[in-house]
Amino acid sequence: MKESRIRHLQNKYPDVPLPVLIKAELLFNGVRYTPELGEAGAWAIPNWHPYRFQEGEENPTGKDSVNIPYLIILEGGGLVRILGNGNSPYNIVRDIDGYALMEQDEKITTIDFQKKPLWHKKNTSDGTPMVQAGATQHCDMLILNPTPGCEYFLYTNEQTGENYRCKFCHYGVPDKRTKILGQKSGIGDISSEHLNRLMEVCAEASPAIKHFYLVGGSMTDIDEEGRRYLQLAEALQKVNKSNIPVCCGSSSLKRDALLRLRDAGVTGACFNLEVWDEDIWKRACPGKAHFTGREQWLKGLTDAVEIFGRGNVMSAFVAGIEFNIEKGFGNTDEALQSCVNGAEWLLRHGILPLYSIQWPFTSASAKKFPLDSVLDYFIRLNASQAGLRKKYGLAFPNDFVCHRCTYMQLECDFDFYLK
Ligand code: SF4
Repeated sequence: MKESRIRHLQNKYPDVPLPVLIKAELLFNGVRYTPELGEAGAWAIPNWHPYRFQEGEENPTGKDSVNIPYLIILEGGGLVRILGNGNSPYNIVRDIDGYALMEQDEKITTIDFQKKPLWHKKNTSDGTPMVQAGATQHCDMLILNPTPGCEYFLYTNEQTGENYRCKFCHYGVPDKRTKILGQKSGIGDISSEHLNRLMEVCAEASPAIKHFYLVGGSMTDIDEEGRRYLQLAEALQKVNKSNIPVCCGSSSLKRDALLRLRDAGVTGACFNLEVWDEDIWKRACPGKAHFTGREQWLKGLTDAVEIFGRGNVMSAFVAGIEFNIEKGFGNTDEALQSCVNGAEWLLRHGILPLYSIQWPFTSASAKKFPLDSVLDYFIRLNASQAGLRKKYGLAFPNDFVCHRCTYMQLECDFDFYLK
């Protein structure tokens, strides 16, 4: 009998806890459609991407695509983003415990789906649906994003003709969300009408929340961006009656802005560097390199540690861009070494790196790096990071992320199961 993928991974990575391997597998391979997935789509937090049936795939719905849930809760509490994939070996069925994740006919674990929070059905006092207020909830984290449009998309390098957006990013494109939220290019101010609606959501959601995360698209002027986050933090401070930790997920701001944010109730920061290798960083994140610069990005991080404390500052990275990008690393070992070098620097300075994965996005990189080799890279990278966190005396969860809310990363799961 053929060994299942999960058993194969357990044999290959005996030191990696099983729930971490299951989560990694789901991130990479997703799940096939079953009626249970379609039914849960009606009451769970909806996926940004509906399930699209492949040609020839069994389709009991008669539709080309159907809404499915966004998040799976694994036994033990870990959260995973759902990727619909007609070729996946995994699917979800009902069983005596609720729902079961199956690899073909073998039950892997009990799961549930993240339900829509109650505020999803409510309106703000001016009658606006709360779901349009610029907040999203992932289990115990409320993300406040009243300005999702990133200004880098609006500018082009005159010499090269290249857009300044990060090469892996699509979510920051100014679109109808930015219009609905009244966001204006070059202006940090959030209109009081939109801010008030968002604060009503915060007050409503608070009892189930353990972390507030402030985020938004980048601005080309970080001083103006700092003022935007200050306005947001000051508004939140008034409704954050239980002193829930607040993390600022802006560009890497200057020290005076960070001090003002601390006075407005912010307790941590996450300035996403995205890539450690400096040459690849400049090419992968041309807007960050041009409008903020590497020196300020690192200085903002170390200033933030002085102000908020060791372990209260994070930086997110996109694992995979190092070899997916043109003229990137030629193999995953080189990429891994670069990430380890970066993590050594960051952790030594009290900053926790977090990695999400980027799949090969060109046919050339997909040929060179088959999905299983990228999965292997992601698991090895996370295992090495767990060791480095121990070496520097830092660990997850901190006040700002835990294994119940990080749905694309493995760090919190590693530390939760290896503690
Ligand atoms: S800074 Fe980069 S990753 Fe962030 S929204 Fe802008 S383009 Fe996207």
